[in-house]
Amino acid sequence: MSRRTRIVMLGPPGAGKGTQAARLATRLGVPHVSTGELFRHHVGTDTALGREADAYMRRGDLVPDGVTLSMVAERLTAPDAAAGAVFDGFPRTVAQAIALDQQLAANGHALDGAVLLEVPRDTLVARITGRRFCAQCQATYHLEWSPPAVADHCDRCGGDLRWRADDDEATVARRLTVYETETFPLVAFYETDHRLWRMDGLGSVDAVAARLEEVLARD
Ligand code: ADP
Ligand code: ADP
Ligand code: ZN
Repeated sequence: MSRRTRIVMLGPPGAGKGTQAARLATRLGVPHVSTGELFRHHVGTDTALGREADAYMRRGDLVPDGVTLSMVAERLTAPDAAAGAVFDGFPRTVAQAIALDQQLAANGHALDGAVLLEVPRDTLVARITGRRFCAQCQATYHLEWSPPAVADHCDRCGGDLRWRADDDEATVARRLTVYETETFPLVAFYETDHRLWRMDGLGSVDAVAARLEEVLARD
């Protein structure tokens, strides 16, 4: 079992980052830090930050780095993040990746590496189309591949399941383009430093989780 506890989950929208990050974080006993979830929580509770982020998210654009970085910096000062974190959907730009390295270094830590989940586009679209999330606890489901026990209700907390406002076809297309231009350069960024693990994101959730454990256990 891996002792790596500071890991970035990288990949396009719908690749399964959130699903795998949640499981891995639970197993490692560290928080799952998803900037998308943090933003959706701010939007849902109508904070000033949420109102600022909402317009970008609805268009499928990235929230500006300044807003994103201060939100993550605050999250990492919480005591539960002292032992590490599984980052999901963050960093999404090279500037964010550099800032993450700097913040970890300032606390005497370093990122162990980034896992790139590789999934072809048609599968991404199929995963996103069936995605539902719990409005209360943010758990993720899929109508076909990870359905809740009772339709439209969260297994964990009983909350209502919804689809994400940015999971419609046009916004997904925009998000995939934004991924290619803004986020894909992170692959080279981490590869240059020998901090990138590429892995196949196809197969069942359990199969991908087992593959992820193998990747993280490598020297
Ligand atoms: P997905 O799981 O489909 O990759 P996320 O839930 O991670 O999507 O993100 C949803 C939206 O939240 C993004 O399209 C973007 O608008 C915003 N967002 C999330 N993380 C970041 C980030 N690190 N930087 C800028 N914007 C972000
Ligand atoms: P991301 O965070 O990369 O956007 P998610 O973890 O939200 O991706 O997964 C996208 C959708 O695909 C969700 O509905 C999720 O339940 C489903 N999903 C995740 N992993 C798998 C898998 N290995 N096989 C089938 N469906 C999956
Ligand atoms: Zn729930």
